[in-house]
Amino acid sequence: DKVYLNGAYLPLAEAKVSVLDRGFLFGDGVYEVIPAYAGKLFRLESHVQRLNNSLAAIRLPLNYSVDEWQNIFQPLLNNNGKDQYIYLQITRGYAPKRDHGFPAETIPTVFAMCSEIVPFTGKTVGIKAVTLDDTRWQMCQVKAITLLANILLRQQALDQGAAEAILVKNGRVIEGAASNIFAVIDGVLVTPPKSHEILPGITRDVILELAQANNIASREADISLAELQAASEVWVASSTREIIPIVDLDGTAVADGKPGPVWQKLDKLLQDYKKSLS
Ligand code: PLP
Repeated sequence: DKVYLNGAYLPLAEAKVSVLDRGFLFGDGVYEVIPAYAGKLFRLESHVQRLNNSLAAIRLPLNYSVDEWQNIFQPLLNNNGKDQYIYLQITRGYAPKRDHGFPAETIPTVFAMCSEIVPFTGKTVGIKAVTLDDTRWQMCQVKAITLLANILLRQQALDQGAAEAILVKNGRVIEGAASNIFAVIDGVLVTPPKSHEILPGITRDVILELAQANNIASREADISLAELQAASEVWVASSTREIIPIVDLDGTAVADGKPGPVWQKLDKLLQDYKKSLS
């Protein structure tokens, strides 16, 4: 299987980047994860818009159009009808000297590969999650490759037998280590508003759109830890896992400990929506 690196398609084993690449030395880069259903890229425009916002935020000049990205990604997709995703990473590239300041000339490293989406086990029965202090930086709207805090938080959750960490800041629920969060509170589907504190998830947008189009009450509002603990449903949302119900939070059952009716409805709407696109 071929991958894309700086304008060329080549076998994964032949795709090589310098150890002086700023992505390697500093984590100086951004990325995207774009699902493809039945060989068609899902919401490519939204992903490219978010990518451009990330690139602008880290002052990395690279401006490909949606069509140019489409043309880069298309040869990477398999025609096997399975769910896949494109992983795209752009770094500030090779610089001759390790120096924090930007190099005089930036030649970005652009890398893309395609992988199969393996259905997330535990989706239908729900997962365990633990709440942890959000130790990340103050630019979480940027999809930066610098993921050390996210990795340590996710591993801390895994070490406790949970599948995701729910990040909390001063009693406010922010998002998951690699997902956005939804809760059903007093019958209303709630997710925190977009800000520098969360990654603006494409799945999050899709869920809010589907809820609105199907008369399911929803609201973008802050969620307190107490509200999360008392919620009748809690889920996390991301491109590769879609929506996953949390049935155990910090060792306590969420409501009756089973995936709830609002999750069931939205999951069905999401599956139908995916099918309608192919
Ligand atoms: N929040 C964080 C921190 C993430 O890493 C991700 C995706 O991996 C998301 C939210 C969900 O974003 P999307 O729905 O675009 O995959």
